[in-house]
Parts: sequence; structure tokens; C-alpha cells
Amino acid sequence: MGKILVMGGAGYIGSHTLKHLSEQGYDVLAADNLAAGHREAVLNSPLIIADLLNETSLEAVFTTHKIDAVIHFAAFSLVGESVKDPAKYYRNNVIGTFNLLEAMRRHNVNKIVFSSTCATYGQPHYVPMDEKHPQAPINPYGQTKLAIENMFRDYQTAYGLQYIALRYFNAAGADESSLIGESHNPESHLIPLVLQAVKGERENIKIFGNDYETPDGTCLRDYIHVNDLAVAHRLALEKLDEFQGFINLGTGIPTSVLEIIKAAEKVSGKSCPAVISERRPGDPAKLYADNRAAQNILGWKPQYTDIEAIIRTAWNWELNRRF
Ligand code: UDP
Repeated sequence: MGKILVMGGAGYIGSHTLKHLSEQGYDVLAADNLAAGHREAVLNSPLIIADLLNETSLEAVFTTHKIDAVIHFAAFSLVGESVKDPAKYYRNNVIGTFNLLEAMRRHNVNKIVFSSTCATYGQPHYVPMDEKHPQAPINPYGQTKLAIENMFRDYQTAYGLQYIALRYFNAAGADESSLIGESHNPESHLIPLVLQAVKGERENIKIFGNDYETPDGTCLRDYIHVNDLAVAHRLALEKLDEFQGFINLGTGIPTSVLEIIKAAEKVSGKSCPAVISERRPGDPAKLYADNRAAQNILGWKPQYTDIEAIIRTAWNWELNRRF
């Protein structure tokens, strides 16, 4: 395979995938508008500044480089923000991806691997969730990702697009090198917030509800290491000729908010100040993946199945953060 364009390559999951592909000998090019990404996160890979909403900059990517396949991470992903400002999400995620697909079509680029999400399912009817679970997103973020999945379905039928959309559960952790890791501003994800509370950078962690129907009353999620996601993207890229469709990426292991806090305390050797607060609207009690499709179709298996091992990588990153 020739050059791989990693759109959103300066972001959290994009930068880990970029590093993995580059270590596997792929010829990679990162593109990012640096709205949420970090220039430092691409490490030694080439970076081109491009914005999906600026067609001139997007066109320049395809005219100055011969691209063979695209991995597309460039999207906004904050559920709460998407409820307050859906226009931002429809514009950037849906119109942005449309522009990307059209640029690909103009330049005869036919392969795409895409970051989708378990948020396209909405409230779970059953867990673990497989790919056949009905899709009824409960927020604009999930709606935009579902709209993009539907674009892929239609582009495949009409234009022969080869796509795999990977539906992530909760991405977590950092590369073992601690050269890259999670850095959102503002941060809203549980693990970095817990670790920042452990470090004393935040007063406490608010536990959003402890009266759910789960063993300890706090929500269960499926935390998947970012490098396991990175490997799955490479495998998906390599499978595009044989398979097109939708694949869940999770460990299949449910972990509660309290278990995350306990694991963070164990890994860091420090206590985490925590307070019980209100439930967060839209949070289901349990979300975890049936990952058999990823195993069977991609030949993928998560390497990180121990939550402490995942949190250890996130903690090392927190202690050595560069951006
Ligand atoms: N959560 C929490 N306090 C926080 C942030 C998150 O209790 O400050 C809980 C949240 O209710 C959910 C889990 O942690 O059950 C993971 O939330 P996150 O926002 O990291 O990811 P999401 O599951 O929403 O994609």
C-alpha cells in the first residue's frame, strides 16, 4: 500500500495510530487543522495543515501527495457540547466528511477507515452490544456519526467506496513511551480527570450517580487502550478489499466508575478525593461491547485487558505530559 493520509493525525487516537503505522513501515501523512490536535503529537511524521471545511486546503492535500487510503479521525466528540451547539457538529463532522469523500472521489481514492462510536447505538437494549444492536443516537454527536455511516453505505453502493467504520467504546490510556497521550481542553473524560484529582490539580472527581442498577451503583463502561485501537485501524486498512462495514472496538469488559478510581489509587499510590453528585443526563447504566466481529473479521484481540495496566499508561503520561 502507498501513502496513508491520517486525517486528524494530531489528535488523541489519530496520533497513536499514526505512530503505530509509521512503526509498521507504512508511508504516512498526517493532516490536521490543529483546532483540537497538537503539533507535537505527530512526532516525526510529516504534518500538513488542512481543514475539512476549507476545500482549498483539502484539495492541496490530494494534489501535492499521491494518497492511497485515508484514516479519518477529524471530528468533534463532546456529547454535551453537541447538545448545546449542534450546528458545530453537523458542520464539522457531517459536512467535513462529505467534503473529504468528495475530494477522495475527485482523486480516485477509494479506501477509508473511520472513527465511529458506540454513541450511534443510543440507549442500550442489551449488553454486551453487538453491531446488530438498533441505532438510535440520543445526542447530536451520535447523530452526526450515524449520518456519516449512512453516507458510507450509500457511497459504497453508488461509487464502490471501500470503508470500515470502527465503533469505539471508551478510548483510554497512552503510548508506553509517554511521548503522546490524551490532552483535551476542556477535559471531560473520566480517567484523565481522576488522575488530575489524584495529582491535586483538581479539587475532586465528581461521581455522576451511584444509584444505577449495577453492582456498586456507578456506571459500567468498556475502556479500551488507545494502542489497541491503533492496531485495529491498521488491520482494518489491510482488510478493506475483503470487507466493508461496521465493527465494534471494545474489550468487552465492564468497569465501574468506582473501580476506575480504585485502580487509579493503586497505580499512583495516592488517594483520589471523590464526591457523589447528580447523574449526568443521557448516561446509560451499562455500555460494553461484544467484540467478536473485530476478532473474527480483523483477527484483532485487545492486548490491554487489565484496567490497572491501562491506567498505568495514562498515569505515566500525566506525570510526563508534553502538551
Ligand atoms: N464520569 C463521572 N465523572 C466525571 C466524568 C465521567 O462519574 O467527571 C462517568 C460518566 O458518568 C460515565 C463514565 O464516567 O459513566 C465515563 O464517562 P466519560 O465522559 O469518560 O465517557 P463516556 O462514557 O461519556 O463516553
